[in-house]
Amino acid sequence: MDKISIIVPCYNEEESIFHFYEETARVLDQMQDVDHELLFVDDGSKDKTIDMLRKLCDKDARCRYLSFSRNFGKEAAMYAGLSEATGNYCVIMDADLQHPPKLLPQMYQAVSKEGFDCCGGKRIGREGDGFLRSFCSRLFYKVGKSLTHMDMGDGYGDFRMMNRTMVDAILSVREYNRYMKGIFSFVGFHTKWIPFENVERENGTSKWNLRSLLSYAMEGIFAFSTAPLKLAGVVGVLLLFGGMVFLLVNLIQQIFMPGALSQFDVLLVAILVLSGVQMIFLYIVGIYLSKDCMENKNRPVYIVRERG
Ligand code: UDP
Ligand code: MG
Repeated sequence: MDKISIIVPCYNEEESIFHFYEETARVLDQMQDVDHELLFVDDGSKDKTIDMLRKLCDKDARCRYLSFSRNFGKEAAMYAGLSEATGNYCVIMDADLQHPPKLLPQMYQAVSKEGFDCCGGKRIGREGDGFLRSFCSRLFYKVGKSLTHMDMGDGYGDFRMMNRTMVDAILSVREYNRYMKGIFSFVGFHTKWIPFENVERENGTSKWNLRSLLSYAMEGIFAFSTAPLKLAGVVGVLLLFGGMVFLLVNLIQQIFMPGALSQFDVLLVAILVLSGVQMIFLYIVGIYLSKDCMENKNRPVYIVRERG
């Protein structure tokens, strides 16, 4: 019989956990033909999350929990959950019911019967997110896509059910600075998307503020793109080109209106050309650095989806 592991990262979710459990268990109880486990990952919560989890695990043998020694972040919690999950299908869900459990049967249908490796919820609308947050998110996904050439698209979150092959592929990406959206995109696999309306958090508050979101966005770009490094090259070429053009204009001027070049002109040309050359060397150093950085990540060179 198939088994679904439901992985739930929790950080200060004392107000949400029980409600999440009730709603999810109600849906799971209707899925008679499949076994399941609920694996909660307490990401170093400072409230009574751990007490709630202990109670739940005493009450229901399908529940398990891990509790981190401190707050390591949702990425670490998802990685731990996927590593410890025993099911042949895994799904990651937020504890705040922003990921509707009612999609689970459809997701299971897609991965078990329709030949997909993964079925994700695609969030439409951003009600409850606030204007600034939704504007910044949209901007980030646009910039991110053009920089990384990977679709980490707006609305495609971590809420997805994956088969064992895909989970093992994700676990084989062992880098420390984990950016799950990028990793999902990196491992590939056939994915079906089911749209769902965004809803506001049931209880508690979002763990994100503008600062943490910004650093998360930067993490995504730096973990998957070396494009920022190339900026030095572009600036270098522009400076060098500017210096050359300025020099040429001055030399032509000398032919028609002979006279001494002003000290300022000479200085300007020297500054432009030298800075340009420096920038270009900085770019070269950057390229070596980026190659080394990618080597260090030790990502798999290829991932097999199926063998015959
Ligand atoms: N979360 C976590 N560690 C953190 C921050 C968040 O495990 O450091 C969990 C949180 O408990 C929730 C999920 O990640 O289950 C999504 O967090 P949140 O609802 O705050 O994010 P949002 O929905 O606002 O993007
Ligand atoms: Mg949330």
